[in-house]
Amino acid sequence: MSSSLVNGLDAATRLAESPLNRADTGSPIDLDAAELAARNLLVALGADLSSDGLQETPSRIARAYAELLTPMPFNATTFPNDEGYDELVIVRDIPFQSLCMHHMLPFYGIAHVAYLPGEKIIGLSKLGRVVDLFARDLQVQERLTTQVADWIDATLAPRGVGVILEAEHLCMSMRGVQKPGSRTVTSALRGSVKDDPRTRQEFLSLVANI
Ligand code: ZN
Repeated sequence: MSSSLVNGLDAATRLAESPLNRADTGSPIDLDAAELAARNLLVALGADLSSDGLQETPSRIARAYAELLTPMPFNATTFPNDEGYDELVIVRDIPFQSLCMHHMLPFYGIAHVAYLPGEKIIGLSKLGRVVDLFARDLQVQERLTTQVADWIDATLAPRGVGVILEAEHLCMSMRGVQKPGSRTVTSALRGSVKDDPRTRQEFLSLVANI
């Protein structure tokens, strides 16, 4: 096993461990404190918690947000690129959902994730898992896009990476400017997908239904 492969596995393991604690940003989820806070928020917003339908709502809110903010661990096993595959690997139309950090309202859409392999490849389903790993956080779309690209870059050391996310933000659809159906598109390009015009064009044309 090469040292770079070991490093890739270590990075994946580090990111995937402690599912109740995002190692980079947060502290462990305290369900009791979240339930109390949800109760206080509902009361402050004028809700009557003695009504039948609302009695269990604070605890449901706490558990729902805990689920949405807990990344699902996975093993990002990589493999040697024994066949020397040297074209883009693209997984298109990966559905994802996340929470905007400014309003704690959902944003959701699809991700297109591509890389140009170097010495390592990864199972295709894992590219979707990586999106989920970072989506289950209080996010902004730009940061989510960058984190996915950086993870692939660090884990696979590929020759290029391309990530495009397109999403509808409920904080824009339901409130504020109230523009339902509008979609925000963000991209993060690395290596030859960024710097080589042909590879970049190939990537963009292969995801061009956006
Ligand atoms: Zn927002």
